[in-house]
Parts: sequence; C-alpha cells; structure tokens
Amino acid sequence: MNLLRLLNRKTFPHGIHPPQYKEETHDKPTRRLAFPEQVILPLQQNIGAPSIAIVRKGQMVERGELIAIAAPDKLSVPLHASVEGTVRDITLMPTATGPKTRSSIIQTLPSSPQIPVTGEQQDYRQMSREEIIAAIRDMGMVGLGGAEFPTYAKLATSMQHDIHTVIANGCECEPFITTDFRVMLENVQNLLLGMRIVMKAVAAEKGIIAIEDNKLEVMTALQAHLPEDGSIKVEVVETKYPQGAEQMLIYSLLGVALPKGKLPASLGLEVINVATAAEIGALLPNGQGFIERTVTITGDDLENPGNYRVPIGTSLQHILDETGFVGEEAELILGGPMMGQPVAFLDTPVHKGTGAVLVLDERATPNRNVQPCIKCAMCVEACPIHLNPSALGLLAYKHRYQEMQEQFHLNNCFECGSCSFVCPSNIPLVQLFRVAKAMNRERKLQ
Ligand code: SF4
Ligand code: SF4
Repeated sequence: MNLLRLLNRKTFPHGIHPPQYKEETHDKPTRRLAFPEQVILPLQQNIGAPSIAIVRKGQMVERGELIAIAAPDKLSVPLHASVEGTVRDITLMPTATGPKTRSSIIQTLPSSPQIPVTGEQQDYRQMSREEIIAAIRDMGMVGLGGAEFPTYAKLATSMQHDIHTVIANGCECEPFITTDFRVMLENVQNLLLGMRIVMKAVAAEKGIIAIEDNKLEVMTALQAHLPEDGSIKVEVVETKYPQGAEQMLIYSLLGVALPKGKLPASLGLEVINVATAAEIGALLPNGQGFIERTVTITGDDLENPGNYRVPIGTSLQHILDETGFVGEEAELILGGPMMGQPVAFLDTPVHKGTGAVLVLDERATPNRNVQPCIKCAMCVEACPIHLNPSALGLLAYKHRYQEMQEQFHLNNCFECGSCSFVCPSNIPLVQLFRVAKAMNRERKLQ
C-alpha cells in the first residue's frame, strides 16, 4: 500500500502548494451584482452541439424563459434568458475561448424586478431516474467546475454502471477562488437536496462531500444537517493542487487509481461539482432554468473583491465597473490562475462554467526569462500523473510532437500547470504541451 495511505493522510502523490490568495474573498458573503444593461448569451456554452435559438430580434423575454433549445439527438443543453428584456440581436460575439460565436444579446428591461419565471413544481421523490435526468437537461445544467460537460449526459452514462457513491467535489484547489466554499457555506439545504437528487438519478447509496482542509468551516456548517442514516458525509482531504482533479480526488478519498481513459463510473463513482449539485437542488423543484451563478471576482486594484451572484452573459466590462477597478491595466482571467482562460476583450461574457474572474496586475504571471532545462526533476516531482514534463519539453522544442505522444503519453496531460509552476528555468511547459497536442490533432485530421 502507498505510504501516504499508511500515514492515513487523504491525499495523492506529487502535486504542488501554490500561494492560496483566498483570504481576499473567503469571508465575504455572496452579494448580488447589479444587473447589467445587456447580457450576451453564447449559444455554445457546453461541450457538444450549440443550442438552437427560438427567439427573434425585438422579442420580449422574461427572466428564466427558454430562448434556445438543445440540438436534437446531440450532446446539447437548452439556454434560458438570464434577464427580462428585449432580444436586441442574435449575432457573432467574442467568447472566452477566442473565436466569435453566435450569441443572443438581450437588452435588460430597466424597470423590471427581474424575478425568474418558475415552471412546474417537481418532487424528485415522485420522479423516475429518467425523469430526473430529463429535468436536469431541461434546466440547461452543465458542470460548473469549469468543464461545461452537460450534466444530464454524465448522469445518463452512469445509469449504465453500478454506481455506489456520488462524490460532490468541493476541493476548489485553484488559488484565489472561493466560489464553492461560499456555495457550501451559504446553500447547505440546496447542496444536500441536490446530492439526494443526483444520488437517486444514478441509484447511489452513499454521498461524500469532499473538501480540502482549508475549508473546515464547511464541516461545521454541514454537520447538523447531514442525514442521520450516514448516507451523506463530509470527507476532508489535504489542501494541495490539483486536488480537485477527478482522478486525484478519487485516489485521495479511496486510494484507488482511475484507470487511464476510464470514467469514474467504471469504479462505481459519480463525481459532481458542489456548485452543480447546489444549483440542481435549487432549480429542479421549481422547474427553473439555470440563469445565474456564484462567481469569485478578485485580484489587484479592485475596490470590492468578493463573491457575487452574476447573471450568465454579464460582460467583464460591467464586472470591472461594478467591483470598482481602479488600475490602469491588468490581465483578465476567467477561472483560476493555473487552468483559467486569459481574455482580451471586455465584452467577453461570463458563461455557465465561469467560477471566477481574476483581475491580475502585480500577481499576473511575470514574463520571466526562459533558461535551458537544468535537469533538476522538479517538474517530474510535481506532475500528479507521473509524466516526465522535462523530457516532453525537450521534445516539444524539437517539434517531435508524435514522439511526445507515442513514448511519453502527452495526451494524458490534463494541463494542470504544476510543472510550469515549479520550473526554476521558467520553461512554459504547459503551453508547449498545448501546442504539441494541437499539432498532433491537426496531423490526425490531415
Ligand atoms: S501540466 Fe501535464 S505534465 Fe505538467 S504537471 Fe500537469 S499533468 Fe503533468
Ligand atoms: S523543472 Fe524545469 S529545469 Fe527542472 S527538469 Fe523540469 S523542465 Fe528542466
């Protein structure tokens, strides 16, 4: 047995301990961000096919109204209006991932109280597993940890396996972000209800809410509300990056390695982000669509960093205005500093998977001098999946991309950035790996 398990520390081998920077928003209760004058809702906010608009220019829509249906017979989810207002246009707009994408722009009705519409009341206890999964699809739910994989599809796949445990992932191991922490503290009932709903959907007997040991307040908040039969419990794992990655968390909790290319369902596990579970708990009983989320907005030169409820489609410009950005310039990142997406345009909207907006000035990754590899092996020690980033980096510089895959398992790299973080030669390893993967993909297509 692994030494770490013998010592009874719930963790995984390797990984890193970057500065946390969570204290800036950790203790700030979630507030509502003022509604923007307009929202930009990309039709593609999920892995799979984009949704199909069913509204036209000039049409009035209510907050929470269905404005785009899921693409039929494809991996896809519907989209709902996040404000009451008028559809101003359906056109190409910039997104976090770069290319412009077809988006519905809704002009917010200034006088509206912005109360979301409700659908049919639903009690999950009276619903079949298939009905629950269909309801989760209808709410447009995707993984809120950043993956944006349609939740209904994940649960439907799990129905084909014998699932015994649902793991609600509340590790939130990226620096700066405290979204999941605040969600767990402030939405105990919704989180537990969401867990029960998901457990019923996949027929799991047990639920685990997993938190890192820098979030012990959550343990206190949840303890009194956990079911007496012990079916849902809280488990604490070491604060370490990337503890929130599925395969790392599974190893930490259960001491089993997720086989390469296999889903957690193959081990009888369903892993879901805590914010996703809490939204399911909040929305499913009222038949509502997913239209807003909690977002950590923090960094440098912000007068009011904190956690905010933000309508999907709110632009970064509005966020900077409302949280009091007083700097000259800054790097904007959607998500965490390790795996987030830097963005260039201020009209880029918050999308369903956006858990954080970072506004970094002093703490932006400095443009450091890249030096040759000194073979120190720090990157090898950091890599949580035991790749050899040093060897991969050397091959990347020589454009030997195919060899990177065939001999050094490049595609197993999930781009956590731990190797780049520790490299004393400042070699941009993860960026090199992204390019190499893209080149291999292109070659395959040719
Ligand atoms: S970015 Fe890839 S190679 Fe580097 S530490 Fe993470 S998984 Fe390993
Ligand atoms: S950490 Fe950097 S310098 Fe050290 S072996 Fe890895 S790539 Fe080379």
